[in-house]
Amino acid sequence: MARFQGKTAFITGGGSGIGAATVRRLFDEGANVVVADLQQENANRVVAELGGGDRLLAVDVSDDGQVVAAFEAARQRFGAVDYLVNAAGIKGWGSASDTTDELWRSNMGANLDGSFHTCRAYAQASEGRDSGAVVNISSQAGLEGLPARLPYVTSKHGVIGLTRAAAMDLAPRGIRVNCVAPGIINSPFTEAMFADPERARKMRAAYPIGREGRPEEVASVIAFLLSEDASFMTGAVVPVDGGITAGAASF
Ligand code: NAD
Repeated sequence: MARFQGKTAFITGGGSGIGAATVRRLFDEGANVVVADLQQENANRVVAELGGGDRLLAVDVSDDGQVVAAFEAARQRFGAVDYLVNAAGIKGWGSASDTTDELWRSNMGANLDGSFHTCRAYAQASEGRDSGAVVNISSQAGLEGLPARLPYVTSKHGVIGLTRAAAMDLAPRGIRVNCVAPGIINSPFTEAMFADPERARKMRAAYPIGREGRPEEVASVIAFLLSEDASFMTGAVVPVDGGITAGAASF
């Protein structure tokens, strides 16, 4: 299946976890992939799997100047960018009373400003074109509050607002903007959460499906949302969470 033959995808956070799984999935389905990541060592490994080349861009998405420059570099190297996937992100533990300004700003910067910067650069670079698709990554934490993760929860709720607002603006131009909201996915992002076996057991037991997800299980939904298989979807928020936000446990 080559749903993305001849298309170019710009993927932030493509050096690890969900972003890396998305890079591999889109590449396997024929896409030309541009990997934009802060962390060059991991990203280099992923890019080497795709045959290397100059498809890797060092970008801090919280810095708009770097994002604009990266889109220009991608355009010069590969021509038009057809798809954008925003998988760069960081976590932020802090409560309503102890979240520092620094933690708040870093979460907003990487998780929300970053997705805004790339959406804007993509929208500007797509001026005059009549098709395209964006997928942002929110979280279970974008759909409900979680204790002691105030900056992360706030930034991920913001990603849903950004998705819906951008979907309204870009639909008349044939560009669809959707969002996935993953539950706990096994990646470097969460590996510390599994260090304590008893905590890991409780976490898995909370999931109706009985386990955490794999990055590939999110990547396949991202690929679907980018593809023409999702041609009537825009502004959608799709949970990929083993059912954890589908209902409350009985008591
Ligand atoms: P990860 O830590 O494995 O990968 C994140 C990547 O983003 C890394 O390669 C990192 O270098 C890059 N990155 C971080 N800040 C950046 C910045 N400012 N500029 C450019 N790149 C930056 O994490 P993951 O599990 O793949 O998570 C990807 C996205 O999915 C994140 O937005 C995360 O919030 C979200 N998410 C993850 C989970 C989970 O359980 N893993 C659940 C819900 C949502």
